Amino acid sequence: MQTLQLKTNPTCPDTEVCERAGALLRKGKLVAIPTETVYGLAANALDEAAVHSIFVAKGRPQDNPLIVHLPSPDWLPHYTPKIPEAAQKLVDAFWPGPLTIVLEKGGKIASAVSAGLPTVGFRCPSHPVASAIIQAAGIPLAAPSANRSGRPSPTEAAHVLLDLDGQIDAIVDAGPCSVGVESTVVSLHHGIPHILRPGGITPDQLRGVLGAVEVDPAVLQGLAKDAKAASPGMKYKHYAPKANVTIIKGSLDTFIQYVRSQPQNETYALCFEGEQQKIGLPCVTYGTANDPASQARELFGALRTLDKKGAQTVFARSPSEDEMGLAVYNRLLRAAGFSVIS
Ligand code: AMP
Ligand code: MG
Repeated sequence: MQTLQLKTNPTCPDTEVCERAGALLRKGKLVAIPTETVYGLAANALDEAAVHSIFVAKGRPQDNPLIVHLPSPDWLPHYTPKIPEAAQKLVDAFWPGPLTIVLEKGGKIASAVSAGLPTVGFRCPSHPVASAIIQAAGIPLAAPSANRSGRPSPTEAAHVLLDLDGQIDAIVDAGPCSVGVESTVVSLHHGIPHILRPGGITPDQLRGVLGAVEVDPAVLQGLAKDAKAASPGMKYKHYAPKANVTIIKGSLDTFIQYVRSQPQNETYALCFEGEQQKIGLPCVTYGTANDPASQARELFGALRTLDKKGAQTVFARSPSEDEMGLAVYNRLLRAAGFSVIS
């Protein structure tokens, strides 16, 4: 299959491009679309066969659910039977934006979307091109990140093509994504609202609207292979480059001391801007030390750069674990297969 490549300005969506993408999606085709978080691999969420083809193209496990993307909040009542008060508050505060809310599944949504769960994650992206494409398609779009399963999520069109060129019908390129990590996933089915996946909306932002919010323990610990996941996406090793990654917690000096004591074999430091000279090893940077938003924006691209350079062993500087840093740490932890040295 030839992947059609379309380009548009990110802030002022090209109507013809969005119409073309929308028409392909209505026909059951797969189109990679830009969102403010990462590029998504979209298909008609109401079409069982189209949704199935997402899993095939990505090599995604069948029990890992997809998020349903809507162009505006007023579509939500058509696809879930019940909007609890807390969900409405979240919609009012954070949509459009990088927040996914897990709600009861309505009958029209294809069953493959929820991977057998009675719930569906809904999100309304704030990226003007994503909204314009969904609007043009006239249907809700099921979309996970547009990478091969297990690989770092794509924050540029080139990342999508590296993984999926020839396997998907089209891609709409609108340049780099502004948030760089996926949406925050919140479930309201646990009593106290639970963060199943940290992301572009921080725990404190959610607390500001809902009061108490809990971060699911699996966010920092991962799950045992046979454990039952509230969100099946929590189960798998994820976001991983080809190299072995180890996170080193502590100061820059501790990091340097440790890394220099290790045998060097295509070894790279994954560090923050401005630290390269002091480290004195080959380095790839992801953002600056005290700016988790910049780390979020650059982490996935940095993981792919390490692959391109042929890194075999990677020692990573640790981000902070609070607020936006929690989302960054959660991704890095999975990229490292939970290998951490304190
Ligand atoms: P991706 O954007 O590729 O990470 O895929 C979407 C992710 O959203 C999944 O891996 C899950 O973590 C989460 N998700 C989607 N639907 C649900 C749901 N019904 N319940 C819990 N988590 C969900
Ligand atoms: Mg993903």
